[in-house]
Amino acid sequence: IHIFKVKEGVNYNEGDPNYDLFKLSMKVSAKRLFPNYVFLDAPFNLQYYVPGRPETEVATMGCRTRVMGNVYDPERQISYSRGNLSFTSINLPRLAILSGRDEAAFYQKLDAMLELVAQQLLDRFEIQAAKRVYNYPFLMGQGVWLDSDTLGPADEVREVLKHGTLSIGFIGLAETLTALYGHHHGESEEMQQKGLAIVKHMRDFCDQKSQAMKMNFTLLATPAEGLSGRFTRMDRKRFGTIPGVNDREYYTNSFHIPVWYPISAYDKIQKEGPYHAFTNAGHISYVELDGDTANNLEAFESVVRCMHDAGVGYGSINHPVDRDPVCGYVGVIGDVCPRCGRRSGEALAPEKLAELRKKYPGVPTFCGCE
Ligand SMILES: [Zn+2]
Repeated sequence: IHIFKVKEGVNYNEGDPNYDLFKLSMKVSAKRLFPNYVFLDAPFNLQYYVPGRPETEVATMGCRTRVMGNVYDPERQISYSRGNLSFTSINLPRLAILSGRDEAAFYQKLDAMLELVAQQLLDRFEIQAAKRVYNYPFLMGQGVWLDSDTLGPADEVREVLKHGTLSIGFIGLAETLTALYGHHHGESEEMQQKGLAIVKHMRDFCDQKSQAMKMNFTLLATPAEGLSGRFTRMDRKRFGTIPGVNDREYYTNSFHIPVWYPISAYDKIQKEGPYHAFTNAGHISYVELDGDTANNLEAFESVVRCMHDAGVGYGSINHPVDRDPVCGYVGVIGDVCPRCGRRSGEALAPEKLAELRKKYPGVPTFCGCE
């Protein structure tokens, strides 16, 4: 995944030395879906940023993992030479269903579950930490992890791994709110405040655990493409179908506004932005643009700027991208390709294919019937 780091004074505003690259990145993303955007000016990223030291810039691994703060070694709160050790995600809607609209009961169950997950992460850590340097010949043997260069081959890696993070994730804030209060955070400001309170509660737990253990417990906005469907199926089996809660194929990822809920790009960003500050193990907000807007670079840029101003740490803009393998046209293709006039699924006569190849040289062509 290509990521463009946005930074005021570097590339964000007209007159910044690399403003041209910011512009170019949006041209590329509008055409190819990547890069995504990391916002180094978000307060929770800016607090680590030291000009000229790239290791202090937040980096996003995989689709959203973020490793930055370091309770174990506050002198080295950097993104290099560290990593996430493991994460476990909580099925929030299930806790809400079991609480039967009783907020206090929900928080009690949540506290118990947070403690259970923390203990489970520590159990896993114990297995990892008891390994020796020779068990990780690249990461530890070649000094990739912080301080691993001070260890001998037979030394335990425990202290080095404490630079890493143990993360607690969550699924389905929207369905949790619906189960507890009857509607979700996309629908009212009151629910937005309830949602923020739940996520802040989980983050506070992670921070307290971090201080108590002098280890890095962090809160993850889980990217659970598989898990969100699995949790939903399990809960439908156990509780039956509950309208607005588990009556769809998937629980909504992390703190996202449900994808099926009609909301403008601007409002979605405003709603999701504040959750980024709490989820220090990683987060992402997606905006879906229709095909026409995607080719409108001004509209594309206004979405990126909206994310920047709303406190989003990491954002992605999706839009439909079709490609005609015969003529190479990229954009929205309905039944008929706007460039060469070929119908979707149409098998071309050899003469027609030869003509198109001549007309659009350099485009790898297929049989024309795909
Ligand atoms: Zn075409």
